[in-house]
Amino acid sequence: MIINRLKKLGLKITPQRLAILNLLEGNIKHPSAEEIYNQLKPQYPSLSLATVYNTLDVLARAGALQEIRIKAEKRHFDPNPVPHGHFLCRICESIHDLDVGPLEIQTPFNIRDYLVKDYTLYFYGICPRCRKRDRSSNQ
Ligand SMILES: [Zn+2]
Ligand SMILES: [Zn+2]
Repeated sequence: MIINRLKKLGLKITPQRLAILNLLEGNIKHPSAEEIYNQLKPQYPSLSLATVYNTLDVLARAGALQEIRIKAEKRHFDPNPVPHGHFLCRICESIHDLDVGPLEIQTPFNIRDYLVKDYTLYFYGICPRCRKRDRSSNQ
């Protein structure tokens, strides 16, 4: 339950937070802040892009979701706050979860005397769909 999740994180329940978390729930497409704003706007006409940015910041800092900085120019968001690998397709620019198994470790953890609280794992290349399209156009 989203309301319970906010309470557990000690966050106040606001319509904006609920709307954003609802939109992201189960979303595996890693939408950008602008995409989130555009999808919410019809339902919440008074919503501003600045409010969406602020709300996403608060939620990410509290650990309710994860910010993905795989693209330099855009901020994308994932409802799964646990660190995991992300893959950016250089052709279609889509972002995918990339499960790399043993590389993914629950935080915090220690490496020698360093306490690791967070990490990012970004991969870049060509996604399966673009590879398929590329192969079929070469035939
Ligand atoms: Zn692609
Ligand atoms: Zn992800």
